Amino acid sequence: MDYIDVSAWEGARAPQGRRPERQEAGKRMAGKRMAGKRAAARRARRRRRFWARIRFSCLVLLAGLLLGMVLWRLLLFSAGHPEQEDAQALRRQTEMSMVLQEEAGRPEIVEDFLTPNPYSRPGERLPEVKNIFVHYTANPGTTAEQNRSYFENLGITGETSASAHFVIGFDGTIIQCIPLNEIGYAVKSRNYDSISIECCYQSEDGSFTRATYDSLIELTAWLLKKYGLSPGDVLRHYDEGGKKCPLYFVEHEGAWEAFRQDLADYMDSKG
Ligand SMILES: [Zn+2]
Repeated sequence: MDYIDVSAWEGARAPQGRRPERQEAGKRMAGKRMAGKRAAARRARRRRRFWARIRFSCLVLLAGLLLGMVLWRLLLFSAGHPEQEDAQALRRQTEMSMVLQEEAGRPEIVEDFLTPNPYSRPGERLPEVKNIFVHYTANPGTTAEQNRSYFENLGITGETSASAHFVIGFDGTIIQCIPLNEIGYAVKSRNYDSISIECCYQSEDGSFTRATYDSLIELTAWLLKKYGLSPGDVLRHYDEGGKKCPLYFVEHEGAWEAFRQDLADYMDSKG
């Protein structure tokens, strides 16, 4: 086992005369180290203060934003007087119910307006509606779409002038070809004060299918109500000029009367 020879240490010590110098240097070093530590502590404090200030500024900004938003909402809510808002809501409700009332009896209608052209959709204004005219297509087995296409093609071929506001298919489909505020070319002398409905059919005698008949009742009932008219204001094309249209209702006067009665009953049932 080794042990330290203290005498050897003693002997290694610097001569007595140099000791104060070394002590001074030691003190200076220690002083420098202390100063360095203090400076580092100061820097750390400054850094902490800097970040604390940043955090504080962010919080203040956030709080300001939140406060601003709350005030803005309060301002918006207090801007409109409650009575005014009530009146506005009531007016909106009334308008809605008026639209719903008018639409209540409206059958399902496929709006497929013709391209404006001089032969089937001249785009002239329809100033008034005194009668609703019922027609048949005079072309058994053709669909509502086919008859609409026929009117559309007249704009290209210019073969003749003809159209109707509505075409009802033998499956009951209702296609609207012309807006209600425009005239069509259906009843020569009455184009400017009436609306016309073409009906498709399959039977050679010109009688309508049940589906066509029901759609015709629904559509005419809605139009009569819309224009303040009565079932007596629904006419056959035949009643204005003598053309055999719609054939079945011309050849079977009783069927025509029955149709108008069914229409009246339907309107009564709807109030
Ligand atoms: Zn006709």
